[in-house]
This record gives sequence, C-alpha cells and structure tokens, in this order.
Amino acid sequence: MTTHGQTLENFNVRTDENVRHIIFNNNSKSYNVFDTKTLDELEILITDIEEEDYEAVVFSSAKEGFIVGADIKEFNMSSAHDIESMVIRGQNLFNRIEDLSIPSIAIINGTAMGGGLEICLACTARICLENSQMALPETKLGVIPGWGGTTRLPRLIGLSNALDLICSGRTVTSYEALKMGVVSHIIEDVDEVDVSIFSDDEQERKKGAIASENAFKALAIFKLTKNFISKKTGGNYPAPLKALEVIQQCRKMGRDDALKFERMAFVQLAKTPVAKSLISIFVGERKLKSKALDLSKQNWSPLKVTVIGAGAMGSGIAFAIANKTGGSVSLYDPYEEQLNKSNASNRAYLQNKVEKGYISADECNRIMERITTTTDIEKAVNKADIVIEAVPENLKLKTDIFQKVHRIAPEAILATNTSTFRVDSLKENLPADRVAGLHFFNPVSKMPLVEIIRGSGTSDDTISKLCSVALAMKKTPLVCNDCAGFVVNRILMPYLVKFDSMISHGMDIEYVDKVMKDFGWPMGPAELCDLVGIDVIYHGAQNISNEYSYINLPDNSVISDLYNNGMLGQKTRSGFYTWKKNQKKGKVTRAGDVRPHKNEVTAALMGVMKTEAKRILDENIVEQPYEINMALVFGLGYPPYKEGII
Ligand code: NAD
Repeated sequence: MTTHGQTLENFNVRTDENVRHIIFNNNSKSYNVFDTKTLDELEILITDIEEEDYEAVVFSSAKEGFIVGADIKEFNMSSAHDIESMVIRGQNLFNRIEDLSIPSIAIINGTAMGGGLEICLACTARICLENSQMALPETKLGVIPGWGGTTRLPRLIGLSNALDLICSGRTVTSYEALKMGVVSHIIEDVDEVDVSIFSDDEQERKKGAIASENAFKALAIFKLTKNFISKKTGGNYPAPLKALEVIQQCRKMGRDDALKFERMAFVQLAKTPVAKSLISIFVGERKLKSKALDLSKQNWSPLKVTVIGAGAMGSGIAFAIANKTGGSVSLYDPYEEQLNKSNASNRAYLQNKVEKGYISADECNRIMERITTTTDIEKAVNKADIVIEAVPENLKLKTDIFQKVHRIAPEAILATNTSTFRVDSLKENLPADRVAGLHFFNPVSKMPLVEIIRGSGTSDDTISKLCSVALAMKKTPLVCNDCAGFVVNRILMPYLVKFDSMISHGMDIEYVDKVMKDFGWPMGPAELCDLVGIDVIYHGAQNISNEYSYINLPDNSVISDLYNNGMLGQKTRSGFYTWKKNQKKGKVTRAGDVRPHKNEVTAALMGVMKTEAKRILDENIVEQPYEINMALVFGLGYPPYKEGII
C-alpha cells in the first residue's frame, strides 16, 4: 500500500466519499501492535490527513482484533531518556489525532488494549463490535497508561469509572464499555458505520467532563479509592497509587501539562524493580502463548468435547469451553445432583455478569445452552474428538474411565486433569499417542495457567490439538514433559511437606502463615492446606512420594494427624484453623511457639521450592527457567512483583 509516495507495510488505506479509512494490518504478525514500524507509518498517515481535505477519518483493523498495545519488547527501556522518548512519541502522535479539524472515529473490532485503546481515546468517537474487549492494563505492568490514557480517560468517562479501569487494569466487555461511556455505540457490522452522525461536539465534551465534577465528590472518590488500593496492594505495587495521584494532580490541568505529569510518572515507575518484574512476566506470558501457538499449527477446533466428572474442576472446565471458545461441550457425571449443582453455579456466575451489565441475558442463555449435561456416559462420549477426565484423584478410577471412554470413542484424545499421577501411569492398553495431560487450576475461570503434558508416547499431533483447545479457552498453556505433579504441584508438594515438618517440630503455624503472606503469597501454607483440603494434600503427598522418596509425609506429622482426625479444612469447618464457610473463625487448632527470624522461615520454604525447580530443569520437564517462573505465578499465585524463583 502506498500513500504520498511511501510504501506502507502495516496499513491498508482507502478513501470513500472523502472519508479517509486507515486500517491497521500488521504485515508480519497475526495481530496489530504498536511497534516502531507502525508508529513510523502512522506518522506519515496523520501528516497526509493534516495536509489533505478529508471530511472524516476512520481507524479500523483488518485483523481479528483491533490493537493489542505497544510492543514493549521493541522499545528500549534501558535509560530514563529512552523511556521518555518512547512516551513522548506516542503522546505527540495521539495529540495530533485529537487536534485534527475533522471528526475521527475508531471502530474497535475485538481486543483494544493499552496503546490500542489510547489511540481510540484521542478520537472524536469510538464504536465497537459486540465481541470487543478493552483495557488499560499498564498498572498491571507496574507503570501507568502513558500515551494519554491517564489524562483522557477521566475526561471522557468521569473519575469513578476511570479510576476503576486504570487502577485495576481490568478488561471490560463491549457492554460495560458502552455503559461507562468508553464507546458510544455497539454495532453488528463494521460496514454499517455512518460517519456523518459524528460531529466534533464530542471533542468539546471530552475536554470539559472531568473539570465539571463536584470537588467534594471528587475528593471522596479519591480518598475511597486510595484506601481500597492501599489495602489491596499492601504497598507492593506502586503503579495503581501513582496513577491515582496523577489523575488527582492533573484534574484541573490543561492537556499538555497533564500529559507532561503523566509522562514523568511513567518514567519514574518504569525504572523500578517491580515494573521490571511485572514486564518480564508479561513478556513471559506472551512467549508461552506464542510457543503454544506455534505448536498448535493447524488451529484445530474439535467437533465434540466431553468432560467427565462435574465436580469443582470438571464443571469449571466445561464452563470455560462454552464461555470462551464459543463451542459446545458434553458434561458427564453419574450423579444428577452434581450436574444440577454445576448448572446452578455456572448460571449464577453468568447472571451476576448480566446484572452488572457485562453481558446480555441472551448471551448468558447462549453460553448455558452450549453445555449439555448427562448421566449417560455413552451419550456423552459417543463421537467425541477429545475427552477430558476430571474424576476424583484415584488411579484405578481414572484408568477405568479412560478404558471405558476408549471403547465408546476409539478415536478420541484422552486428556487427564490429574494433579499427582504421571500421564504414563494411565496409558496402559490405550493408544499412547492420544493420551496426554491437560491440567487446569482451581478456580478454572480465574486461573490462567493450563499445563499440557506430553507422556512418553504422546504424539505431536495430540499436543498440537491440545494447544489449540487451551488457546481457544484463552488460557496460558505451559507444554511440559511427564512427571508426577507436573510442574506446579511437584514444586508445591515439597513446600507443604517442609512446612509440615517445621510445624511438627514446634513452629508457630500462624506465624509461618504470616511470614509467607508478608513475603507475597496470597495465603500462608496452613490456609492453603485448609482451602485445598487436608485429605487432598495428604493423598497427594502419598502419590507424589511414591515417585520421589525425598518427599515424605511421616505418619506422626501434623498434616497426618489432622487427616486421621477428619479435620479436612474448610470443607469440614476445621483443619489448621476453624472455619465458617470460607471465613476463618477460630484460632489455629495445633499449638506451636517457635518463631525463628522470618528470613529463616522464607529461606527454608522457598529453598525447597527452588531445589525442586532445579530438578525439574535438570530432568528436562520444561525447556527454560522462565517457564517455571510463569507456572508459579499463573498456577499458584506466586507474587508477580518479585523476581521469579529461578
Ligand atoms: P470433585 O470431587 O469436586 O469432583 C469429582 C467429580 O467426579 C464429582 O462430581 C463426582 O460425582 C464425579 N465422579 C465420581 N465418580 C465418577 C465416575 N465414575 N465417573 C464420572 N464422574 C465421577 O473433584 P475435583 O476437585 O473436581 O477434582 C477432579 C480432578 O481434578 C482430580 O483428579 C483432582 O486431582 C484434579 N484437580 C483438582 C484441583 C482442585 O483444586 N480441586 C485442581 C487441579 C486438578
């Protein structure tokens, strides 16, 4: 494509009835991203608009989504000067779009993240397709939206909504974006846009919105949000509070002064170790996804998926397939009651989203209709392309299920969600090339990781197909080789066994929990055991110790004692602690008063994790250390603001 004699690689352009269409279409990637080439070319295109006599400009995308953000790998972030130059460049470019004398309209078709949304905010109007998703996720990377997002969003949608989106970095659907005023219309088809309805009135409104908010109300909003963020981040993530400070300071400033303030805050944050860790996690996640994308090759989509077992995991897996892939799923359980429970909880989850305006009632019904529940295994499995088993953690039960499924659907891929058994222990008398692990984390809707496990006989074709399924479910897949516990549980189990040994030798349980929470874990090891279930930990440790003799839970340890006394954690309302539903009620049930220095506690517990992680690398269970770090962040909640464990 050429414009003004320049050849463009990342754009298509055309002019219809004097309306200029600038269509992002990255030449070298399957998605659009702000890399240096795209910025270079966009500058040329904006100059063309400034010089020519168009009536309007429309920004859209030729890809499946709009723009995923800035390609941070490409920008040199090594010095404050380089960071500032990168920020100035984006700010200036988007200012030029905002300052055009003609209306500018962004048509968002799918994902618009970070810089991809910030360019839209500089436009006169934004409209989107129903399946769109938008976010300014920069605070999750330890920085703030620096290409005008922190300045423009509050002026467009008001303080409360802008603080919510910017400080959390969360993603909103088209419906929520419409409700908040991020977009003005949801359309069904890109071609139905009539640009003549957009005048530049909107531009004026945008500049005035924030300033007109009542000063007392604004003060209250800032105060409440600040308290909320301080509580939630525990002082470990500076970016959300900095974003709030920038929005508060810049509230009454003109655009250019506000952008300068925004820029300085961005540069200050980008140099911190927290931002560096969070950005490396972000880059690592992209690496894992693109590795899975390469492996998935033919982008397989199964005609029939079946999930066996409708408990916590099976129900979550079936729901994620229906909700995220748009495909149908059969969910089998021998107990009708379990299926009803699963349907009720999945519908309640969606209903909550309908009430908040995130999805429509029709969409809720459509998702639920895609899940067929049955107590008839023949019906569930017949003609399935892939069967995922999520029955209780019992080797005989899992083996029997796979044998039965194979008799009904001899061509199906057999994927296990086991937590502690090797894939190879399930493959006897089965086509080993089609037996693999597909290990999700609880709760499935929230935990991004899925381990895809290659047994000794699993074929590349099976791994490729499982990668396609996991990516369609919008998960972050970690492909690894077979071992008991795979990556996450294999590292978790020595940690819990070490904890058991420390408290069995008199260490104060609550103290250890507090030290590990202060370290950054979402909960301490005792709280984790109570949440997962003491029985699950007890049996898991037994299964894993069958494979690794050094992971050993003695008969007279605290966990064994709790198990033998039926104190199984939250589910029995008593374990390490006493519970009412999921609220901790009582003091710890086992005494201990030894309190060594906190560094000694973290060194001991994190030390066993590191040792296990090194073994996993030595055994080539994964290829690279970053994969282990990612697994712990996305599968176990390891604090992402800290450097990874290995
Ligand atoms: P669960 O007890 O909540 O659910 C198991 C389901 O299997 C129940 O609905 C039960 O009725 C059903 N079931 C029992 N016998 C069956 C049979 N013969 N055929 C079909 N279904 C049968 O268990 P869960 O927590 O969902 O765990 C399931 C599997 O997932 C286990 O292997 C577990 O180790 C693994 N896993 C669990 C978690 C977790 O945190 N809960 C996380 C990852 C993996």
